[in-house]
Amino acid sequence: MPASAPVPTPVPAAATASADRARRGALSVPWIAMYHSVGDCSDDPYSITVTPDRLDAQLRWLHRRGLRGVGVAELLAARARGEGRGLVGLTFDDGYADFLTNALPVLERWDCGATLYVLPGRLGGENAWDPLGPRKPLLTADGIRAAAEAGIEIGSHGLTHVDLTKADDELLSAEVAESRAVLSELSGAPVDGFCYPYGTVDQRAADAVRDAGYGYGVAINPGALNGVHVLPRVHIGENDTAVRLHLKYRLHRLRRRPVEGV
Ligand SMILES: [Zn+2]
Repeated sequence: MPASAPVPTPVPAAATASADRARRGALSVPWIAMYHSVGDCSDDPYSITVTPDRLDAQLRWLHRRGLRGVGVAELLAARARGEGRGLVGLTFDDGYADFLTNALPVLERWDCGATLYVLPGRLGGENAWDPLGPRKPLLTADGIRAAAEAGIEIGSHGLTHVDLTKADDELLSAEVAESRAVLSELSGAPVDGFCYPYGTVDQRAADAVRDAGYGYGVAINPGALNGVHVLPRVHIGENDTAVRLHLKYRLHRLRRRPVEGV
């Protein structure tokens, strides 16, 4: 090369990383929908139920926008490969028995996956932690295995639905670590995801989830906490028509800070 040829200016690695982040701007905040029960919502004081028809309309809306719902572990893995565009997370808390009969057929109709966060300390039980509202049966061990065999990611919601920010060390460890061990055994697969009961989380609970070996955790509004173990989620309910879903999809990305490490 002649001495007079222009020498390309090396681009600092930090600048390249920054440009990469900018290019992935639309991907900087994972969008994760939070559902609970799917069924009759005529008596629903906590607004945790959507009808199968409403879920169907919501997944149709995603489909029309070129979006597809997947489980959170799949969403995070795709994003890590740079292939998360067009994917959103779908999550169902508490492990209601109606997941198999009412949610799964709709998910399959729209070729969607999901994550189901279950309570291995209440197998075949009911939502006894909710003082108001109808009692809803929870999945048995066989029901959870059936969901896993249908391709649904099984995550932990703790053992019995305890507010972890109020649990002592022994209870925190049991709810977080034991539930993972029991579920891994039950489902025959490693359990990667944890969902904080009531969405309540603090740094101590998040640290316990990370230390127990979970790859990620989902909350609702994690406040000042940030990172893959306290991912925010968007509550989706029976009143969420296409217009409201559109707003929730857009506003989440404007309001939420990028999640570090995701
Ligand atoms: Zn719950």
